[in-house]
Amino acid sequence: MTRILILGGTIEARTTAQVLVERPGVRVITSLAGRTDHPIRPAGELRIGGFGGADGLRDYLLAERIDRVLDATHPFAARISANARLACRAAGVPLVVLTRPRWAPEPSDRWLTAASPERAAALVADLPAGTVLLTIGRGSLDAFAPIDRHRFVIRSVDAPTGPLPARHEIVLARGPFTLADELELMRARGVDVLVTKNSGGPAAAAKLDAARTIGATVVVIDRPTPDPTDADPTDADPAGTDPTDADPAGMDPLAPDVPVAGVVTVTDPREAIDQLLDSATPTP
Ligand code: NAP
Repeated sequence: MTRILILGGTIEARTTAQVLVERPGVRVITSLAGRTDHPIRPAGELRIGGFGGADGLRDYLLAERIDRVLDATHPFAARISANARLACRAAGVPLVVLTRPRWAPEPSDRWLTAASPERAAALVADLPAGTVLLTIGRGSLDAFAPIDRHRFVIRSVDAPTGPLPARHEIVLARGPFTLADELELMRARGVDVLVTKNSGGPAAAAKLDAARTIGATVVVIDRPTPDPTDADPTDADPAGTDPTDADPAGMDPLAPDVPVAGVVTVTDPREAIDQLLDSATPTP
């Protein structure tokens, strides 16, 4: 039996779990952080909640005798990805990272890039008064709360709980969205500006196509720095941190390499599945 832990919270994680559970001799456990109120249940087993840092994840891997880990978390979920690298090294468990290529503007696009939600809010505050569609989840909305120049349309899976801009409408919806969905939303609300994270991949890209179609300005929040999906797990410094820094989880990121199945930089989860199964050494 090969025990695979999927660090999830994305459509790719669910797609991968669906395929893996149908393989004989494979046990699939998906882990979610518990951020959404009613998560879509993936195929296979499910656990919800943090592990307690990299140390906790290492202990979990050893206790559950996990044979390999798939990090299929969102590109902006930098902490769990860094923890996965540390924990897998410490536990001697191979790690496959399934990532998404960043989006890039097309020549006709009007993109403004920002290093953080705060910088994105500053850019938005300087734009001519209009309607701004925020598609950045509910965790980073505070930065936009003081802006009264614009009307905001806030799309989120669950209702936001923190401070919000004075003029706003909340649209509760869960993707993926088609181009027709996005065009309908943007045209019905008269959207002038789209704010998005650079999540990458095809599943959430329709909003960029829609913004292009209607000529909206797009404010794109860059991925966190360091972006753990840029690093090769065989690097001495997998999390992209200064190796002279104390490891926050109490582990040594420079510990001897463990077997690593590789970093898969594709949008097609099938390549990650091949990596997971081809290099599998099942626990007896
Ligand atoms: P994060 O900042 O990287 O992680 C913060 C902490 O949440 C981690 O240290 C870990 O707690 C826990 N955690 C995160 N993902 C987990 C998982 N899959 N299973 C168990 N614990 C997890 O993550 P985040 O940005 O808050 O995102 C949380 C989850 O939402 C991720 O799984 C991600 O795939 C999904 N998501 C995030 C975004 C986004 O924009 N950030 C968008 C869509 C989906 P412990 O240290 O206690 O283990």
